[in-house]
Amino acid sequence: MTSPSAEQQPFRPEHPALTAADPELAALIRAEEQLQAETLRLIPSENYVSRAVLEASGTVLQNKYSEGYPGRRYYEGQQNIDQVERLAAERARAVFGVDHANVQPYSGSPANLAVYLAFAEPGDTVMGMALPMGGHLTHGWGVSATGTWFRGVQYGVHRDTGLIDLDQVRELALKERPTILFCGGTALPRTIDFAAFAEIARESGAVLVADIAHIAGLIAGGAHPSPVPYADVISTTTHKTLRGPRGAMLMCREEHAKAIDKAVFPGLQGGPHNQTTAAIAVALHEAAQPAFRDYAHAVVANARALADALLARGFDLVSGGTDNHLVLIDLTSRDVPGKTAAKALDRAGVVVNYNTVPYDTRKPFDPSGIRIGTPSLTSRGLGTGQMATVADWIDRGVTAARTGDEDALAVIRAEVAEVMAAHPAPGLAI
Ligand SMILES: *Cc1c(COP(=O)(O)O)cnc(C)c1O
Repeated sequence: MTSPSAEQQPFRPEHPALTAADPELAALIRAEEQLQAETLRLIPSENYVSRAVLEASGTVLQNKYSEGYPGRRYYEGQQNIDQVERLAAERARAVFGVDHANVQPYSGSPANLAVYLAFAEPGDTVMGMALPMGGHLTHGWGVSATGTWFRGVQYGVHRDTGLIDLDQVRELALKERPTILFCGGTALPRTIDFAAFAEIARESGAVLVADIAHIAGLIAGGAHPSPVPYADVISTTTHKTLRGPRGAMLMCREEHAKAIDKAVFPGLQGGPHNQTTAAIAVALHEAAQPAFRDYAHAVVANARALADALLARGFDLVSGGTDNHLVLIDLTSRDVPGKTAAKALDRAGVVVNYNTVPYDTRKPFDPSGIRIGTPSLTSRGLGTGQMATVADWIDRGVTAARTGDEDALAVIRAEVAEVMAAHPAPGLAI
């Protein structure tokens, strides 16, 4: 791979203490930095955090226990920690325009579990989008605790359009009367109609939870409509399009603040991860800058350009395209299973994940699709003019996967590394 020029390398972490104390582990981290630098990361739930976020998450805040909330802790010595958490919550309220934000959930899944704890009793009916249709495990899917401790009722998308079947959602909600109704998911390429979901939740007496884990950054940047004021609770991870550390937040109107806080602590968790809280505060500060609006809109513009370039190459896209950061490709017509394609693309330096497509005829562990997205490549400064190249790599990689052409994959890998070298990722040393 070609080396980026000196001015493209603003930071070169040496990990000196780590390298001295544990060279084996330090070498693995260096190898991961190298891998992240050289490859094109198309997994839509991933991103690159800034150097500032990375630094905040690796600090001595790690050393402190702070069970409770600012001003109401069970341990002394919170002079600084309280301010850190207040700042993070205040920034979350400002960025998303909500009354209340809890920044303590360890990740998206525990955040969602806290919502169940706040509003439902074991055995209650809960409703969400089916996992193979693009929903998340924690929305009541069978193998998740949320689908075994609660009675999960699941909706899907129209077979012909790939769009959420809102008539089915309404019909099901009125029949099943769920305590909680989730909207949002992990493989949804289209805008979520929060107003329509709010109407259905109101008619059926459900608490509406908007799980914006994937699109939080787009919402913060004004590139996707906001669930405020439609949703009773907004759940989000902080590490996807929002470009923060691995963590989560729960946001709500004042009326639900107590229930949410009580569910997170002491209901579900012990001490918050203060180093993560600090990094969330930094990420929210970054998300409040005008440049982040540009970023969010560029993510969507790139995804649209990539979808168009894929369509032009004859690819079959679920719902026929995208409104957001994500594109779901059905590879059935290309005669390659999703897993085979994903593994071949990985060897070509194009990192995607295999994924079910709605009404998939193959098994979830070897499904028909691959899921891609543009948050990471946009963070590296790739623009719409380069999406045809990305589509071409995918096209050639998928063909090589079918024919078993390892040489073609190696050629793509070299091309990818060259382009990536010219677009250093935020936070990376190389
Ligand atoms: C990623 C995601 C989650 C879970 O987040 P984790 O941090 O992986 O636990 C929950 N809901 C949705 C919609 C997601 O995309």
